[in-house]
Amino acid sequence: MELRLYDTLSREKRTFVPLDPNNVRMYVCGPTVYDFAHIGNARPVIVFDVLFRLLRHLYGEAHVKYVRNITDVDDKINDRAARDFPGLPLNEAIRKVTEETGRQFHADVDALGALRPSVEPRATEHIGEMREIIERLVAGGFAYVAEDHVLFSPQAMNAANSALPRYGALSKRSLDEMIAGARVDVAPYKRDATDFVLWKPSKPGEPSWPSPAGIKAEGRPGWHIECSAMAWKHLGEHFDIHGGGIDLVFPHHENEVAQTCCAFHQQRMANYWMHNGFLQVESEKMSKSLGNFVTIHELLADWPGEVLRLNMLKTHYRSPIDWTMKSVEESAKTLDDWYRVAADVAPGEPAASVVGPLLDDLNTPQAIAALHGLRGNDIAGLAGSLRLLGFLSESAAQWEGRKQQASGVDAKEVERLLAERTAARARKDFKESDRIRDLLAAMGVAIKDSKEGTTWEIAR
Ligand code: AMP
Ligand code: ZN
Repeated sequence: MELRLYDTLSREKRTFVPLDPNNVRMYVCGPTVYDFAHIGNARPVIVFDVLFRLLRHLYGEAHVKYVRNITDVDDKINDRAARDFPGLPLNEAIRKVTEETGRQFHADVDALGALRPSVEPRATEHIGEMREIIERLVAGGFAYVAEDHVLFSPQAMNAANSALPRYGALSKRSLDEMIAGARVDVAPYKRDATDFVLWKPSKPGEPSWPSPAGIKAEGRPGWHIECSAMAWKHLGEHFDIHGGGIDLVFPHHENEVAQTCCAFHQQRMANYWMHNGFLQVESEKMSKSLGNFVTIHELLADWPGEVLRLNMLKTHYRSPIDWTMKSVEESAKTLDDWYRVAADVAPGEPAASVVGPLLDDLNTPQAIAALHGLRGNDIAGLAGSLRLLGFLSESAAQWEGRKQQASGVDAKEVERLLAERTAARARKDFKESDRIRDLLAAMGVAIKDSKEGTTWEIAR
């Protein structure tokens, strides 16, 4: 069975052939650490975690390298640091913001069942690599210095008579149209409106490093250069898969390709470009002003992370998701059932009916439909398949216990009431047994009578 992936550059699903099956390499753009991650940010984390797990399943755990960066230098971080820690020197305040936000991000995505990537490089630890790429670009005539900035020139790239890709190929934009449509208030130091910043001077007090290209003043990197630098350092000049949200195709990924390919004289940076669709909440674009901005942290207060994970995977990664509470509730019910029947069972091999759709460009909705199919006839296959997808990290008792804890229900008290109710029914005191059932319902406990006895669960 072969893996097929949709590639944004070629706009088609292609068979995945790794450059080196002993070292399959994937880079995904990670968070900018200045605030709690929202549920939209969880989407690439979960989607590419599924791909990471699938690649490990296919090529072996030791043969897959997954790099997801942490952006810890950015204007948004500087602004937040100045706002939250006005008494501290800016650099110290920035460290506090990035450390605290980074810790929170890890707690959030661990709870979503995402494996830690093989490497999580930080932008500020790769300034040397950024400077080296910038030097190469200036030396190659693709970038120039102006007023202590270094700018990349897409026009120089497209004028180069070489085997480089065309600027605009990934996002299917024509450079001529970009030039024609450029805004008029272009920064004065740019030769052309489409030039983008590789390096810029730092204001006093801002983070700063020695500049490349003979610039005397200290400065700091533009946004795009960091991913070219970190991907190069950890995965090489050319690797297999590059991922991120669809909003990153332009300009971020277009510019990454330009930087990397021009610096290393490559036709390609990554062989497959993968982008997840956007998430909206209750049919609206998530935004702070609409009041529907939901952080992962808030959702985790109400739901186990695996519920959020399942809810995310019910939609194919390239489609938009409408995140609704109704759908989350349904995902919780499904997972409760799977935990009950499969969590304590010795897992079998992941079922072909589940792996098959995953191999077809990560078709998780179809894989989940297959899980429902296994529920009736192959519990070991269900258990193995759920584990492949990053579920069942707990035992059934732990799962139930956590739910009870979250709901504040005292399991011992429930058991005591159930015993009283059974006794009441035995003596045909149905008034009393109904009273106890209503009491349990008021506590948020649903009971089910069957031939085997009475079972109970937390009603959602
Ligand atoms: P940021 O921290 O904004 O750079 O975003 C981190 C990652 O989350 C990027 O891969 C974005 O494309 C992705 N992302 C941000 N917002 C959403 C959203 N609403 N839906 C899906 N992905 C998103
Ligand atoms: Zn990036």
